[in-house]
Amino acid sequence: MLKDRIGIVSGGTRGIGRAIVKELVAAGAKIAFTYVKSDAEAKKLLQEIAAAGSEALSFKGDVRDYDTCRDFVEQVKAYFGGLDFLVNNAGITRDKAFMTMEKEDWKDVIDVNLTGCFNMARSCIVTFLKQKEGNIVNISSISGISGIARQVNYSASKAGIIGLTRALAQEVAPYNIRVNCIAPGFIETDMLGILKEELKDKFRRAVPLGRFGNPQDIAKTVLFLLSEQSNYITGQVIKVDGGLHTSN
Ligand code: NAP
Repeated sequence: MLKDRIGIVSGGTRGIGRAIVKELVAAGAKIAFTYVKSDAEAKKLLQEIAAAGSEALSFKGDVRDYDTCRDFVEQVKAYFGGLDFLVNNAGITRDKAFMTMEKEDWKDVIDVNLTGCFNMARSCIVTFLKQKEGNIVNISSISGISGIARQVNYSASKAGIIGLTRALAQEVAPYNIRVNCIAPGFIETDMLGILKEELKDKFRRAVPLGRFGNPQDIAKTVLFLLSEQSNYITGQVIKVDGGLHTSN
């Protein structure tokens, strides 16, 4: 579905990002992914992709830094000879009660989750505008739609991603660039792993499909949004949450 298409995935070493990288590579794409700490995971992922006869590129760099993102995008274009799409996946949580939330907890989450999306999208957009073709998929969260207690910083960052998606989609649609976002519910990754079992059980019971999602559930939706099968979809928020949130 994506044969020889060239794309970037931020935060590709673990969890949802890792599943996205593998799904897109399996669909024929050439992928460059970022991470900040997980050198061993990055190496392992590159080895797995190479063993399957495909090619990928890893880049250690923080999405909080605009110049880092811009350099990375230029390196990807030089290495693969072009750029067709961007998946903004890198994200963090710093959950705590609002009355104990320090300004660093707020800033870290907004900087990685929301400013990181801006930095990557802004670094890619001129290329997309010039070639009159491009595709951006941002990973938001159900938390950005309904809000979740003890996630004021995270909910705000993810709601911001929805606003960014809708505004940018309208601005660049005349240039044949689509921008959508996915709002996952509870997905089994390290991010969910830090929650107490008691709380996880409560969340699991609230999911109508009766299970947490797995990273592949999100990766398959990313593939759909990057493929021709979704050619007439832009500016949308696709919830992938097992039925958790059914109103708009
Ligand atoms: P995860 O397992 O914690 O993985 C996060 C990934 O982002 C890692 O590859 C990490 O790199 C990378 N990353 C973190 N900070 C970064 C930074 N400053 N610059 C570049 N890369 C950075 O998280 P996940 O659960 O897969 O979540 C992926 C996305 O889905 C996030 O945006 C998250 O908010 C969203 N989401 C997750 C859930 C869920 O239930 N899991 C639900 C809704 C939305 P390192 O490995 O180097 O740390």
